[in-house]
Amino acid sequence: MRHRENHRTHRTGWLRAAVLGANDGIVSTASLILGVAAADASAQSILVTAAAGLVAGAMSMAAGEYVSVSSQADTERADLDRESKELAANPVQEHAELTAIYVKRGLDAKLAAKVASRLTEHDALGAHGRDELGISDTLAARPVQAALASAGTFALGAVFPLLMVLLFPVSALMWGVSVSSLVFLGLLGFLAARAGGSPMIASVTRVTFWGALAMALTAGVGALFGVATG
Ligand SMILES: [Zn+2]
Repeated sequence: MRHRENHRTHRTGWLRAAVLGANDGIVSTASLILGVAAADASAQSILVTAAAGLVAGAMSMAAGEYVSVSSQADTERADLDRESKELAANPVQEHAELTAIYVKRGLDAKLAAKVASRLTEHDALGAHGRDELGISDTLAARPVQAALASAGTFALGAVFPLLMVLLFPVSALMWGVSVSSLVFLGLLGFLAARAGGSPMIASVTRVTFWGALAMALTAGVGALFGVATG
């Protein structure tokens, strides 16, 4: 019989990035729109603000993700280089190190030594990378891919509140954008929970709560400045 237990932790990497990007896109664009709308900006300047926010946010996400993932990749590469030199220089010591790791995880000393020997024969650097340094192939950092994915998911999220600006008349914009954005965020939380196989209500509540807070705060700031300058 086939083993059909659907674990989804292998999905958490890209899922986390996609949810983060889309969430950022919706929240920051909707907040920007509400901020300028609360200060009585014209429909055209609201639209320009939202479009500029989309581009700025997507680029900032791409740059941030590229820098962060590249530096992680550099660190991993340097760690593996050092490990590879150590393996060549002190194979006995490295074998003892690996054995100690497996003993700590619950194997008895004899079995641990055997496992260490077998894994060393098979792929020494792979075993040390994985079990000593915590670097696995699936986590291997891909900066450009990460940057494009972040920018793309941010832009995708940002498009929704932007479309609402085109859809609603200025008089109904504040309510239209805030309510629809909360609906989009709820939907995002729902999709994230479905894809990750995690609890639905918790995910939806989490996403909408922070979105509502961000929109309320920026609308408040916009209103304050609108009164002060208008
Ligand atoms: Zn080692």
